[in-house]
Amino acid sequence: MTPSADMPRRVTILGSTGSVGRSTIDLLSREPERFPVEALTAQSNVALLADQAMMLRSRLAVIGDESLLPELRQRLAGSGIEAAAGSRAIIEAAARPAEWVMAAIVGAAGLEPTLAAVRRGAIVALANKETLVCAGALVMREAAQQGATILPVDSEHNAIFQVFDFNAPETVDRVILTASGGPFRTLSLGEMREVTPAQAIAHPVWSMGAKISVDSATLMNKGLELIEASFLFPVPEPRIEVLIHPQSVIHSLVSYVDGSVLAQLGSPDMRTPIAVALAWPSRMATPAGRLDLAAVAKLTFEVPDSARFPALNLARQALQTGGAAPTILNAANEVAVDAFLNGRIGFLDITRIVEQTLTRLVGGTLGDLDAVREADQAAREYAARLVDPTGDGRVVRVQTRGLSRP
Ligand code: NAD
Ligand code: MG
Repeated sequence: MTPSADMPRRVTILGSTGSVGRSTIDLLSREPERFPVEALTAQSNVALLADQAMMLRSRLAVIGDESLLPELRQRLAGSGIEAAAGSRAIIEAAARPAEWVMAAIVGAAGLEPTLAAVRRGAIVALANKETLVCAGALVMREAAQQGATILPVDSEHNAIFQVFDFNAPETVDRVILTASGGPFRTLSLGEMREVTPAQAIAHPVWSMGAKISVDSATLMNKGLELIEASFLFPVPEPRIEVLIHPQSVIHSLVSYVDGSVLAQLGSPDMRTPIAVALAWPSRMATPAGRLDLAAVAKLTFEVPDSARFPALNLARQALQTGGAAPTILNAANEVAVDAFLNGRIGFLDITRIVEQTLTRLVGGTLGDLDAVREADQAAREYAARLVDPTGDGRVVRVQTRGLSRP
């Protein structure tokens, strides 16, 4: 059956209280008849989750932190909205029959809930790039077997999705992912060594969750997106390029064999790519700012600097190695970013920890979910020891040997 966007489409949001989740809620609240809500899930922001569930009359609200279930119940009392808690309940929420599921949990924690939606053949709007980085082959195989549709929400991949000729992939010469360059684009390595979490999460263009903001600052985000793109589009790794474009107006480009380059442009507002997925295969109006190119006046481009931003090459190496390497890269990065945000390591230590974990752990092939879990867990444990080799919780600087000095 061809999906029709004009019929009401029942939706579930995994991670409704986050940055992408809130943008999705904003769109749903503008057309509630068209998008009835099956389930909303969040990890700890119980007040916002309950408000969202009441506003959109969700059938179910799930909070990941089980200690918050009594509060969730209390906030939903008398509404008729079901309440549940725990990571198992989030997976069960994803398995309930909503036609469209927004996967907007951050990190590998999003894998199993996303997979539950994929396994019942849903339309999955995928913001949670870590799902594809840590288990891309598995997720894409399940999607093909179950007839699930994966619609990329990451703005770059959504842009490529809009201009990629899936009927003639052999006519695509290259895919070019654009990157803003993040808040430290012009800093020297010496300056980057001293940056604080607050500086790292102050992204110059996009307002996003803390983890992806730090990833944008190291350029690991673009590395994760490179891996994500390799699973979403039938283009081999050497033909997926990265271009720094600080204005973030061109969201990505597809270059064809005849020399044509097609791109998607827009103001940097996640409601546009979310709307593309929500109304797919149709379109819907959004309040996202209209692009005024005369006001922007100038678009600039740079080649990424691999000496100051080694994360991009690490991700490319992991993709070339394949198997468990991207899973290991992702898990080590999650541990390192968390340690940085908690003031336990410096900014440059993030990529160093990822590199050391990636070189020390040998990843095999990933046949099933258990193998993914094992690789993810082993990398987390290894990276955690690099964060805190003494185990006494004091601040530890990981050696930055090998990084070229400014
Ligand atoms: P965020 O931190 O703002 O929100 C994360 C959401 O996931 C919250 O609802 C939180 O409650 C939930 N969550 C966190 N840990 C969880 C866990 N262990 N189990 C279950 N739920 C959990 O993150 P975000 O910026 O909205 O990003 C979400 C995902 O979308 C990430 O994978 C990110 O890379 C991707 N993405 C975000 C943007 C953006 O503009 N924010 C753009 C492109 C892609
Ligand atoms: Mg992106």
